[in-house]
Amino acid sequence: MRFQTSRPALAGNEMRYVQEAVAGGWISGHGSFVTRFENEVSRFLNLEDGIAVSSGTAALQLAIRALGTKPGDEVIVPSFTFVACPNAVYYSGARPVFADCDPVTRNLTVESIRASLTPRTRGVMLVHLFGLPGPSDVVRQFCTEHQLWLLEDCAHSFGARLNGMCTGSFGDAACFSFFANKVVSTGEGGMVFLKEPEKRELVRCLREQGMDPCRRHWHLHHGYNARMHNLAAAVGCGQVEMAAYHIEERRRIAHRYCRNLKRLEEAGDILLPVEPPGCFSVYWLFSLVLRAGGSMRREHIRRRALEEFGIETRPFYTPMHRLPIYQDGTSFPNSEFLGDHGIVLPTYSKLKDEEVDEISQAMTVCICGDGLRP
Ligand SMILES: *Cc1c(COP(=O)(O)O)cnc(C)c1O
Repeated sequence: MRFQTSRPALAGNEMRYVQEAVAGGWISGHGSFVTRFENEVSRFLNLEDGIAVSSGTAALQLAIRALGTKPGDEVIVPSFTFVACPNAVYYSGARPVFADCDPVTRNLTVESIRASLTPRTRGVMLVHLFGLPGPSDVVRQFCTEHQLWLLEDCAHSFGARLNGMCTGSFGDAACFSFFANKVVSTGEGGMVFLKEPEKRELVRCLREQGMDPCRRHWHLHHGYNARMHNLAAAVGCGQVEMAAYHIEERRRIAHRYCRNLKRLEEAGDILLPVEPPGCFSVYWLFSLVLRAGGSMRREHIRRRALEEFGIETRPFYTPMHRLPIYQDGTSFPNSEFLGDHGIVLPTYSKLKDEEVDEISQAMTVCICGDGLRP
Protein backbone atom coordinates (compact mmCIF):
# COMPACT_ATOMS: atom_id res chain seq x y z
CA MET A 1 0.00 0.00 0.00
CA ARG A 2 1.31 3.43 -0.91
CA PHE A 3 -1.12 5.58 1.04
CA GLN A 4 -3.03 4.85 4.22
CA THR A 5 -6.23 6.80 4.86
CA SER A 6 -4.87 8.09 8.10
CA ARG A 7 -1.59 8.18 9.95
CA PRO A 8 -0.74 9.81 13.27
CA ALA A 9 1.89 12.54 12.93
CA LEU A 10 3.95 12.73 16.10
CA ALA A 11 5.99 15.71 15.02
CA GLY A 12 6.67 17.53 18.29
CA ASN A 13 7.60 16.83 21.90
CA GLU A 14 5.43 13.70 22.31
CA MET A 15 8.37 11.32 22.92
CA ARG A 16 10.10 13.69 25.32
CA TYR A 17 7.00 14.11 27.46
CA VAL A 18 6.28 10.37 27.55
CA GLN A 19 9.86 9.74 28.66
CA GLU A 20 9.43 12.37 31.35
CA ALA A 21 6.22 10.73 32.58
CA VAL A 22 7.78 7.25 32.64
CA ALA A 23 10.94 8.48 34.34
CA GLY A 24 8.79 10.10 37.04
CA GLY A 25 6.84 6.87 37.56
CA TRP A 26 3.52 8.50 36.73
CA ILE A 27 1.92 5.92 34.47
CA SER A 28 -1.70 5.84 35.68
CA GLY A 29 -4.60 8.22 35.41
CA HIS A 30 -3.11 10.40 38.10
CA GLY A 31 -0.26 12.55 36.90
CA SER A 32 0.65 16.09 36.03
CA PHE A 33 0.33 15.68 32.26
CA VAL A 34 -3.41 15.04 32.59
CA THR A 35 -4.03 18.43 34.21
CA ARG A 36 -1.59 20.11 31.86
CA PHE A 37 -3.36 18.60 28.85
CA GLU A 38 -6.75 19.73 30.18
CA ASN A 39 -5.43 23.27 30.59
CA GLU A 40 -3.73 23.44 27.19
CA VAL A 41 -6.71 22.10 25.26
CA SER A 42 -9.06 24.47 27.11
CA ARG A 43 -6.79 27.40 26.31
CA PHE A 44 -6.40 26.49 22.64
CA LEU A 45 -10.16 26.17 22.16
CA ASN A 46 -10.99 29.11 24.41
CA LEU A 47 -13.31 26.85 26.43
CA GLU A 48 -13.50 26.56 30.18
CA ASP A 49 -12.23 23.76 32.39
CA GLY A 50 -11.99 20.65 30.18
CA ILE A 51 -12.15 17.21 31.81
CA ALA A 52 -9.89 14.59 30.22
CA VAL A 53 -11.32 11.09 29.96
CA SER A 54 -10.35 7.71 28.57
CA SER A 55 -12.07 8.05 25.17
CA GLY A 56 -14.40 10.19 23.11
CA THR A 57 -17.11 7.61 23.74
CA ALA A 58 -16.63 7.94 27.51
CA ALA A 59 -16.81 11.73 27.08
CA LEU A 60 -20.23 11.39 25.40
CA GLN A 61 -21.43 8.88 27.98
CA LEU A 62 -20.45 11.05 30.97
CA ALA A 63 -21.75 14.26 29.40
CA ILE A 64 -25.12 12.71 28.65
CA ARG A 65 -25.37 11.41 32.17
CA ALA A 66 -24.41 14.80 33.62
CA LEU A 67 -27.09 16.47 31.50
CA GLY A 68 -29.62 14.41 33.45
CA THR A 69 -30.81 12.03 30.75
CA LYS A 70 -33.14 9.29 32.02
CA PRO A 71 -34.86 6.16 30.75
CA GLY A 72 -37.87 7.18 28.69
CA ASP A 73 -36.20 10.38 27.43
CA GLU A 74 -35.40 10.87 23.78
CA VAL A 75 -32.29 12.46 22.35
CA ILE A 76 -32.06 13.57 18.72
CA VAL A 77 -28.95 12.20 17.06
CA PRO A 78 -27.93 12.35 13.39
CA SER A 79 -28.43 9.12 11.51
CA PHE A 80 -25.29 9.87 9.55
CA THR A 81 -22.60 9.65 12.23
CA PHE A 82 -20.32 7.33 14.18
CA VAL A 83 -21.98 4.63 16.28
CA ALA A 84 -20.60 6.03 19.56
CA CYS A 85 -23.19 8.85 19.31
CA PRO A 86 -26.38 6.77 19.62
CA ASN A 87 -24.60 4.28 21.89
CA ALA A 88 -23.85 7.00 24.43
CA VAL A 89 -27.57 7.80 24.54
CA TYR A 90 -28.47 4.12 24.75
CA TYR A 91 -26.22 3.55 27.79
CA SER A 92 -28.21 6.18 29.72
CA GLY A 93 -31.44 4.26 29.15
CA ALA A 94 -32.75 7.02 26.89
CA ARG A 95 -33.66 6.44 23.27
CA PRO A 96 -31.69 7.90 20.35
CA VAL A 97 -34.12 9.32 17.80
CA PHE A 98 -32.49 9.85 14.46
CA ALA A 99 -32.63 12.87 12.18
CA ASP A 100 -31.55 13.32 8.57
CA CYS A 101 -28.62 15.45 7.47
CA ASP A 102 -28.09 18.10 4.85
CA PRO A 103 -26.72 16.40 1.71
CA VAL A 104 -24.14 19.12 1.08
CA THR A 105 -22.81 19.97 4.57
CA ARG A 106 -23.61 16.45 5.89
CA ASN A 107 -24.61 17.98 9.22
CA LEU A 108 -27.98 18.18 10.98
CA THR A 109 -30.26 21.11 10.16
CA VAL A 110 -32.89 22.84 12.28
CA GLU A 111 -35.55 21.46 9.89
CA SER A 112 -34.35 17.87 10.30
CA ILE A 113 -34.22 18.27 14.09
CA ARG A 114 -37.75 19.70 14.10
CA ALA A 115 -38.99 16.70 12.12
CA SER A 116 -37.74 14.31 14.85
CA LEU A 117 -39.01 16.34 17.81
CA THR A 118 -41.56 14.71 20.16
CA PRO A 119 -42.89 15.61 23.62
CA ARG A 120 -40.26 13.24 25.08
CA THR A 121 -37.25 14.95 23.42
CA ARG A 122 -34.79 16.19 26.05
CA GLY A 123 -31.75 17.08 24.04
CA VAL A 124 -29.96 17.28 20.70
CA MET A 125 -26.56 15.91 19.80
CA LEU A 126 -25.01 18.02 17.05
CA VAL A 127 -22.01 16.36 15.38
CA HIS A 128 -19.65 18.59 13.38
CA LEU A 129 -18.95 15.99 10.73
CA PHE A 130 -15.61 15.80 8.95
CA GLY A 131 -14.49 18.98 10.71
CA LEU A 132 -17.15 21.33 9.32
CA PRO A 133 -19.08 23.23 12.01
CA GLY A 134 -22.78 22.41 12.04
CA PRO A 135 -25.35 25.23 12.23
CA SER A 136 -24.59 25.65 15.94
CA ASP A 137 -26.00 29.15 16.38
CA VAL A 138 -29.45 28.38 14.97
CA VAL A 139 -29.56 24.95 16.61
CA ARG A 140 -28.63 26.62 19.91
CA GLN A 141 -31.54 29.01 19.47
CA PHE A 142 -33.91 26.18 18.58
CA CYS A 143 -32.86 24.21 21.68
CA THR A 144 -33.34 27.21 23.95
CA GLU A 145 -36.81 27.83 22.51
CA HIS A 146 -37.81 24.19 23.07
CA GLN A 147 -36.04 23.80 26.45
CA LEU A 148 -33.69 21.13 25.18
CA TRP A 149 -30.07 20.72 26.03
CA LEU A 150 -27.48 20.83 23.27
CA LEU A 151 -24.47 18.54 23.21
CA GLU A 152 -21.82 19.16 20.54
CA ASP A 153 -19.82 16.15 19.40
CA CYS A 154 -16.55 17.79 18.32
CA ALA A 155 -14.69 14.52 17.71
CA HIS A 156 -13.98 15.63 14.12
CA SER A 157 -13.79 19.35 14.66
CA PHE A 158 -10.93 20.24 17.03
CA GLY A 159 -10.23 23.92 16.30
CA ALA A 160 -13.02 24.38 13.74
CA ARG A 161 -14.84 27.69 14.09
CA LEU A 162 -18.22 29.21 13.35
CA ASN A 163 -18.24 33.03 13.26
CA GLY A 164 -14.89 33.01 15.04
CA MET A 165 -16.00 30.72 17.87
CA CYS A 166 -14.62 27.21 18.26
CA THR A 167 -17.02 24.30 18.00
CA GLY A 168 -17.78 23.35 21.58
CA SER A 169 -18.66 26.96 22.50
CA PHE A 170 -22.35 26.65 21.66
CA GLY A 171 -23.63 23.66 23.61
CA ASP A 172 -24.46 22.93 27.23
CA ALA A 173 -21.86 20.21 26.76
CA ALA A 174 -19.13 19.50 24.23
CA CYS A 175 -17.18 16.29 23.74
CA PHE A 176 -13.87 15.71 21.98
CA SER A 177 -12.11 12.53 20.92
CA PHE A 178 -8.34 12.10 20.77
CA PHE A 179 -8.36 8.71 19.05
CA ALA A 180 -5.28 8.06 16.88
CA ASN A 181 -6.81 9.37 13.65
CA LYS A 182 -8.29 12.59 15.04
CA VAL A 183 -6.84 16.07 14.41
CA VAL A 184 -5.15 16.07 17.84
CA SER A 185 -4.51 12.68 19.36
CA THR A 186 -3.51 10.92 22.57
CA GLY A 187 -3.87 7.45 21.01
CA GLU A 188 -7.07 6.86 22.96
CA GLY A 189 -8.72 9.66 24.88
CA GLY A 190 -11.41 12.29 25.08
CA MET A 191 -12.48 15.48 26.81
CA VAL A 192 -15.73 16.87 28.20
CA PHE A 193 -16.67 20.54 28.51
CA LEU A 194 -19.76 21.63 30.40
CA LYS A 195 -21.28 25.10 30.80
CA GLU A 196 -22.48 24.54 34.39
CA PRO A 197 -19.75 24.20 37.04
CA GLU A 198 -21.85 21.73 39.13
CA LYS A 199 -22.07 19.40 36.15
CA ARG A 200 -18.29 19.56 35.74
CA GLU A 201 -17.91 18.50 39.33
CA LEU A 202 -20.27 15.60 38.68
CA VAL A 203 -18.28 14.45 35.62
CA ARG A 204 -14.99 14.64 37.55
CA CYS A 205 -16.60 12.52 40.21
CA LEU A 206 -18.10 10.01 37.73
CA ARG A 207 -14.70 9.67 36.03
CA GLU A 208 -13.22 8.57 39.37
CA GLN A 209 -15.60 5.75 40.41
CA GLY A 210 -18.16 8.28 41.65
CA MET A 211 -15.98 8.88 44.71
CA ASP A 212 -16.49 11.87 47.00
CA PRO A 213 -13.43 14.07 46.31
CA CYS A 214 -13.23 14.84 50.04
CA ARG A 215 -13.73 11.35 51.40
CA ARG A 216 -11.78 8.34 50.22
CA HIS A 217 -13.79 5.16 49.48
CA TRP A 218 -17.06 7.01 49.83
CA HIS A 219 -18.94 6.68 46.56
CA LEU A 220 -21.71 9.16 45.81
CA HIS A 221 -22.69 7.85 42.36
CA HIS A 222 -22.51 4.74 40.22
CA GLY A 223 -19.27 5.94 38.66
CA TYR A 224 -16.83 4.68 36.09
CA ASN A 225 -13.13 4.33 35.62
CA ALA A 226 -12.96 6.86 32.81
CA ARG A 227 -9.62 8.49 33.57
CA MET A 228 -7.21 9.47 30.84
CA HIS A 229 -3.83 8.00 31.67
CA ASN A 230 -0.81 10.18 32.11
CA LEU A 231 1.16 8.65 29.21
CA ALA A 232 -1.69 9.40 26.83
CA ALA A 233 -1.89 12.93 28.20
CA ALA A 234 1.88 13.32 27.69
CA VAL A 235 1.40 12.46 23.99
CA GLY A 236 -1.50 14.91 23.94
CA CYS A 237 0.63 17.73 25.37
CA GLY A 238 3.07 17.23 22.49
CA GLN A 239 0.18 17.18 20.01
CA VAL A 240 -1.66 20.24 21.22
CA GLU A 241 1.50 22.36 20.96
CA MET A 242 1.33 21.53 17.25
CA ALA A 243 -2.46 21.81 16.88
CA ALA A 244 -2.32 24.89 14.64
CA TYR A 245 0.16 23.08 12.38
CA HIS A 246 -1.99 19.94 12.13
CA ILE A 247 -5.04 22.05 11.26
CA GLU A 248 -3.12 24.00 8.61
CA GLU A 249 -1.83 20.75 7.13
CA ARG A 250 -5.35 19.37 6.78
CA ARG A 251 -6.56 22.60 5.20
CA ARG A 252 -3.65 22.62 2.75
CA ILE A 253 -4.39 19.03 1.72
CA ALA A 254 -8.14 19.68 1.40
CA HIS A 255 -7.65 22.77 -0.75
CA ARG A 256 -5.32 20.88 -3.04
CA TYR A 257 -7.73 17.93 -3.39
CA CYS A 258 -10.54 20.40 -4.16
CA ARG A 259 -8.45 22.17 -6.78
CA ASN A 260 -7.47 18.85 -8.37
CA LEU A 261 -10.95 17.35 -8.34
CA LYS A 262 -12.88 20.50 -9.33
CA ARG A 263 -13.26 19.31 -12.94
CA LEU A 264 -14.89 16.06 -11.82
CA GLU A 265 -17.33 18.07 -9.75
CA GLU A 266 -18.09 20.42 -12.65
CA ALA A 267 -18.72 17.39 -14.86
CA GLY A 268 -21.38 16.24 -12.37
CA ASP A 269 -19.49 13.14 -11.21
CA ILE A 270 -18.86 14.05 -7.58
CA LEU A 271 -19.65 16.45 -4.76
CA LEU A 272 -16.77 18.00 -2.83
CA PRO A 273 -16.85 19.22 0.78
CA VAL A 274 -17.96 22.80 1.29
CA GLU A 275 -17.04 25.59 3.67
CA PRO A 276 -20.06 27.93 3.93
CA PRO A 277 -19.59 31.61 4.89
CA GLY A 278 -18.63 32.04 8.55
CA CYS A 279 -17.25 28.49 8.75
CA PHE A 280 -13.65 27.48 9.29
CA SER A 281 -13.38 23.73 8.66
CA VAL A 282 -10.49 21.62 9.90
CA TYR A 283 -11.19 18.95 7.24
CA TRP A 284 -10.65 16.04 9.63
CA LEU A 285 -10.68 13.58 6.74
CA PHE A 286 -11.06 14.73 3.16
CA SER A 287 -13.90 13.04 1.36
CA LEU A 288 -15.83 13.10 -1.86
CA VAL A 289 -19.34 11.91 -2.65
CA LEU A 290 -20.18 10.16 -5.92
CA ARG A 291 -23.29 11.60 -7.56
CA ALA A 292 -24.68 8.22 -8.63
CA GLY A 293 -24.17 4.49 -8.87
CA GLY A 294 -24.91 3.23 -5.38
CA SER A 295 -22.69 1.37 -2.95
CA MET A 296 -21.75 -1.38 -5.46
CA ARG A 297 -20.13 1.16 -7.74
CA ARG A 298 -18.53 2.95 -4.80
CA GLU A 299 -16.99 -0.30 -3.57
CA HIS A 300 -15.79 -1.11 -7.08
CA ILE A 301 -14.01 2.26 -7.26
CA ARG A 302 -12.49 1.82 -3.81
CA ARG A 303 -11.22 -1.66 -4.65
CA ARG A 304 -9.63 -0.43 -7.85
CA ALA A 305 -7.96 2.49 -6.06
CA LEU A 306 -6.40 0.03 -3.63
CA GLU A 307 -5.45 -2.75 -6.05
CA GLU A 308 -4.20 -0.66 -8.96
CA PHE A 309 -2.85 2.41 -7.18
CA GLY A 310 -2.16 1.32 -3.60
CA ILE A 311 -4.54 3.93 -2.18
CA GLU A 312 -6.48 2.98 0.91
CA THR A 313 -9.84 4.73 1.15
CA ARG A 314 -12.79 4.39 3.53
CA PRO A 315 -16.50 4.25 2.85
CA PHE A 316 -18.70 6.70 4.75
CA TYR A 317 -20.52 5.57 7.88
CA THR A 318 -23.43 3.19 7.51
CA PRO A 319 -26.43 5.29 8.58
CA MET A 320 -27.36 4.38 12.14
CA HIS A 321 -30.99 3.62 11.29
CA ARG A 322 -29.79 0.91 8.91
CA LEU A 323 -27.86 -0.97 11.60
CA PRO A 324 -29.75 -3.96 13.03
CA ILE A 325 -29.13 -2.63 16.56
CA TYR A 326 -30.98 0.62 15.73
CA GLN A 327 -33.26 -0.26 12.81
CA ASP A 328 -36.78 0.98 13.48
CA GLY A 329 -38.41 1.28 10.08
CA THR A 330 -37.52 4.93 9.56
CA SER A 331 -35.69 6.15 6.48
CA PHE A 332 -33.52 9.20 5.91
CA PRO A 333 -32.74 9.69 2.21
CA ASN A 334 -29.82 12.13 2.54
CA SER A 335 -28.10 10.04 5.16
CA GLU A 336 -28.61 6.90 3.05
CA PHE A 337 -27.29 8.61 -0.07
CA LEU A 338 -24.12 9.70 1.73
CA GLY A 339 -23.71 6.28 3.32
CA ASP A 340 -23.78 4.66 -0.13
CA HIS A 341 -21.74 7.19 -2.11
CA GLY A 342 -19.08 8.70 0.16
CA ILE A 343 -15.36 7.97 -0.07
CA VAL A 344 -12.74 9.16 2.41
CA LEU A 345 -9.31 9.88 0.90
CA PRO A 346 -5.91 9.81 2.64
CA THR A 347 -5.61 12.84 4.91
CA TYR A 348 -2.79 13.31 7.39
CA SER A 349 -0.13 15.88 8.29
CA LYS A 350 2.97 15.64 6.07
CA LEU A 351 1.08 14.16 3.08
CA LYS A 352 2.93 16.02 0.35
CA ASP A 353 1.35 18.14 -2.39
CA GLU A 354 2.76 15.78 -5.04
CA GLU A 355 1.18 12.85 -3.20
CA VAL A 356 -2.18 14.61 -3.07
CA ASP A 357 -1.84 15.17 -6.83
CA GLU A 358 -1.02 11.51 -7.42
CA ILE A 359 -4.03 10.36 -5.36
CA SER A 360 -6.32 12.86 -7.11
CA GLN A 361 -5.21 11.64 -10.52
CA ALA A 362 -5.70 7.99 -9.58
CA MET A 363 -9.17 8.70 -8.18
CA THR A 364 -10.09 10.52 -11.39
CA VAL A 365 -9.12 7.43 -13.40
CA CYS A 366 -11.07 5.14 -11.05
CA ILE A 367 -14.20 7.31 -11.11
CA CYS A 368 -14.26 8.18 -14.83
CA GLY A 369 -13.08 4.89 -16.19
CA ASP A 370 -14.97 2.38 -14.13
CA GLY A 371 -17.33 1.27 -16.91
CA LEU A 372 -20.22 1.75 -14.46
CA ARG A 373 -20.24 5.52 -14.87
CA PRO A 374 -23.90 6.39 -15.27
C1 LIG B 1 -14.11 9.17 17.07
C2 LIG B 1 -15.51 9.61 17.36
C3 LIG B 1 -16.06 9.55 18.65
C4 LIG B 1 -15.37 8.99 19.86
O1 LIG B 1 -14.58 7.93 19.62
P1 LIG B 1 -13.47 7.31 20.57
O2 LIG B 1 -12.84 6.34 19.64
O3 LIG B 1 -14.20 6.67 21.70
O4 LIG B 1 -12.53 8.36 21.03
C5 LIG B 1 -17.32 10.08 18.84
N1 LIG B 1 -18.02 10.62 17.84
C6 LIG B 1 -17.53 10.70 16.59
C7 LIG B 1 -18.33 11.37 15.54
C8 LIG B 1 -16.26 10.18 16.31
O5 LIG B 1 -15.79 10.23 15.05
